Amino acid sequence: MAELRENLARLQAACDNPRQQLDYYLKQGKKVVGCFAPYTPEELVHASGMVPMGLWGGQTEFQKVTSYLPAFACPIMQANLEFGLNGVYEGLSAVIIPAICDTLRCMTQNWRFGVTSIPMIPIVYPQNRTSPASVDYLVSEYETVLTMLCTITGQMMNEKALCRTIEVYNEHNAAMREFAQTANDHLDVITPRVRHTVFKSAFFFEKGEHTAIVKEITAALKEQPVHNWTGKKVLLTGIAFEPGEVLDILADNDLAVVGDDLAQESRQYRTDTPLKGGGGLKRLALQWNVRYGCSLIHELDKPRGKMLAKMCQETGAQGVLTGLMKFCDPEEYDLPFLENDLRQAGVHCTTVSIDQQSSSVEQLRTRIQTFAELL
Ligand code: SF4
Repeated sequence: MAELRENLARLQAACDNPRQQLDYYLKQGKKVVGCFAPYTPEELVHASGMVPMGLWGGQTEFQKVTSYLPAFACPIMQANLEFGLNGVYEGLSAVIIPAICDTLRCMTQNWRFGVTSIPMIPIVYPQNRTSPASVDYLVSEYETVLTMLCTITGQMMNEKALCRTIEVYNEHNAAMREFAQTANDHLDVITPRVRHTVFKSAFFFEKGEHTAIVKEITAALKEQPVHNWTGKKVLLTGIAFEPGEVLDILADNDLAVVGDDLAQESRQYRTDTPLKGGGGLKRLALQWNVRYGCSLIHELDKPRGKMLAKMCQETGAQGVLTGLMKFCDPEEYDLPFLENDLRQAGVHCTTVSIDQQSSSVEQLRTRIQTFAELL
C-alpha cells in the first residue's frame, strides 16, 4: 500500500508541476518536444531519441494571449499560448501542433509569430479516411515532421527505432486499459481525481517510464481485496474533465468514474498501432485510420453515443457526464447526436461546461448534484 501511495504521489507531482518534469529530462541531457493536444505523432519524437511532452493548458491569467487569439478560443489553447509567450516552455526544442480544428489551425500561425524561440512543427491529419490516398498523405506528413525533427537531433530516425517505439506505445496503451479496468474494483482508492491523475500524468513522462509506474499501481491494486462500491457509477466524455475540483464534486456526491471517453484520457489509448501492414510510418497512418468515436475525427454515422451506451452496459455505469470544453466547436457539434443516442438507449446524461481557468465550481456542484439524484 505504501508503494501504491508513493507511485500515485509521484504521478500527482508531475501533474502539479510539469515544468519540473521538463527540467528533470533537460538535466539528463535529453531534448524535449512539446506535443499540443489532442493528437500528435509522439512516436516520431520518441523514436528520434527525444521526450514528447503533452501541452494541455493549465491555470494562468490570460494577458499577452489576448493580442493573438479571440476571447472565444478554447481555454486550453489560450493557456498554451500564454505560457509560450511568457517563456514557461523555454527549454523545449520544438512544439508539434496538429491543425485539427479551427483554433489549432490559428495556433500554428500565432505560435510561429509569437513564440519565435521555440520552432513549431505543424501536422495536418486527413479526415477523408475512406480514401486509400489518406494513408499515403499521412505518411508524407510524418516524413515532413521527421525532417524537421532531424534538424534538432542532427540525425534521421531509423526504422528499427520506430518499430521499437511502436511496441513501447502499444504496451503503454495496454497498461492504461488494464489500469482502467482494475481501478473499477477499487473505487475507494481510485477516486475520480486519482483516476484522472494516472491518465493525465502520461503526458509528462517518457512512455516506458510511465508504463512501469502504472503497471506497479495496477499490481498493487490487484493485491487489495475488491471493494464493494455502494455509490453510483458514471462515465465521462469530452476533451478533458478539469480542474480537479470538478472531479471532487463527483466524489462528494458518491459518484465513481468507471470509464471515460475523454480526449485527454482513454481516447488516447483505445487504438493500438497495428503490428503488421508495412513500415512504421505506414502502420502509424493505419492507426489514425481506425481511431473512432472522437469529435475531432470525421465519421459519417457519429458512433460516439452508441459506443458510450455500450460502455455503460459493460461497466454498470448509470449515466454519462459530458464535460463540454468552453468554446470547443467540434465537441459542440457532436453533442446533439451524442445526447440523442444516449437518451434513446435509456442512458441518463447531462453536460457541464469545462473551463480550466475557472476558480469557482459552485455552479457545477448544483448541476452534478441534481444529476446524481436522478440516477
Ligand atoms: S478540439 Fe476543442 S479543446 Fe481541442 S483545441 Fe480545438 S477547440 Fe480547443
